[in-house]
Amino acid sequence: MVGAGSGWRREKVGHFIGGEWTPAGSGRWYPNLSPWSGHVLGQVAAGDAEDAYRAIEAAHEAFAGWAAIPPSRRQQIFLGAAGILESRREEILHALAAETGCGRHFGDVQLGFTLKLLRQAAQLAYRPTGELLPSDVEGTQAMAVRRPVGVVGAIAPWNASLTLSGRAIVGPLALGNTVVLKPSEEAPYTGGALWAEILQEAGLPPGALNVVAHAPGEAGGIGDAMLASPLVRRINFTGSTPTGRRLAEKAGRHLKRVVLQLSGQNPLIIARDADVGYAVDAAAYGAFVHQGQVCMCARRIYVERPLAEEFGARFAAKAAALPAGDPSDPATVVGPVINEWALALLDRRVNEAVELGARVLAGGVPRPPCYPATVLAGVPDEAEIAQGETFGPVVILEAVDSAEEAVARANASDLGLAASVITGDTRRGLRLAARLDAGIVHVNDQPVNDEPQMPFGGVKDTGWGRFGLGFAAEEFCDLQWVTVRDQ
Ligand code: ADP
Repeated sequence: MVGAGSGWRREKVGHFIGGEWTPAGSGRWYPNLSPWSGHVLGQVAAGDAEDAYRAIEAAHEAFAGWAAIPPSRRQQIFLGAAGILESRREEILHALAAETGCGRHFGDVQLGFTLKLLRQAAQLAYRPTGELLPSDVEGTQAMAVRRPVGVVGAIAPWNASLTLSGRAIVGPLALGNTVVLKPSEEAPYTGGALWAEILQEAGLPPGALNVVAHAPGEAGGIGDAMLASPLVRRINFTGSTPTGRRLAEKAGRHLKRVVLQLSGQNPLIIARDADVGYAVDAAAYGAFVHQGQVCMCARRIYVERPLAEEFGARFAAKAAALPAGDPSDPATVVGPVINEWALALLDRRVNEAVELGARVLAGGVPRPPCYPATVLAGVPDEAEIAQGETFGPVVILEAVDSAEEAVARANASDLGLAASVITGDTRRGLRLAARLDAGIVHVNDQPVNDEPQMPFGGVKDTGWGRFGLGFAAEEFCDLQWVTVRDQ
């Protein structure tokens, strides 16, 4: 089967440690598989804790130099990286399609976000790093100074590999930290080695960014090394709530601060005064973009009863018409899901919901390696798909008597990442937004929406802390109180 990624391959993806490409210490490699064709795209270093410790040492050695580099040089490196990324646009889109099944549209979204991320990071170089504080001690000048923390561990997922690894490393680096990145086993190139290539070419000094890859099922050893090493001062993690919870438990033992961006079960509320056509288009994008494999995707749609029938019929028809197939084909909307395990999980959860009484309004039958856009109605709360996040193009539709009931239903979840309200009355939308337990709320838009400067993150079991360059200093710097006393 040809297609996805137009034959893109990368024969060897090694670790990047101290500015050098190296195999795993163990000498082991694992095959990087395309989710569309199943073809082997190349061999990837199967790293372990020993490799992670080498990378941590390299990051530690590079820290003092990188933290002291003049802002003009730091700025040049990020602007240079943006230029390199842009010049490699076509090849990177192919790599994203081949490695992660990412279609052209979502590839463009990732590139657009990442270019902005790098250009905004360049501006961080000249941001003030502290303030003068009034002191009651006579003859004393007090200051609060932001200092980079040192080595930051970054653990990233595969779904928006370029963007989410970028977000995990660029903010910390721009603030003067050095980084050890562990990309997902599903995206070792576009979420890992690619970043090393680009930043090295842009002039990032050796050791400032290190990348350690690993085979499926072997992330734990590297994560544990990051947690256990006293040289690693912060960890940021983007992934699922169960993995994040395990990490946080261990981080507590090591008293290590972690920034966690975890699962969402995101509600989209459609009020009775919404424009139905607009709501259908917004919901279809929000539920099915990148085959529903975005943490912000709409998973539950609550429609006020007067609109429920018309919305349900038009939305189901739209979902059923979305073409599934090769992500490299510009006509494709729903590409392959990431792997067989994910496809089987979707199938099992949809079947379980149906056994418990749910109705399938669109989709519902796997078309390997794709799962079609699927709309379920009448899903009982005890169904697994109604409870946690299921990463894929499946959304639950529910009629409610009022928008207030929708808010109560939305807030019943343990997760609280993104939420949306579509209404003809913006003030009502804002009132509902204020009552939603979500870190991100969009009024009159769908939930999949991100900009690098915004405070990105969730409440409840969706995690701790915020990404977003404007807020990164809170997470990846320590505030030092300094006084100077006249002698
Ligand atoms: P997803 O469903 O997005 O793959 P995961 O939480 O499984 O979510 O994966 C997100 C990231 O966490 C990936 O880089 C994965 O390799 C990593 N990961 C999985 N298990 C662990 C672990 N025990 N310690 C550290 N990282 C882990």
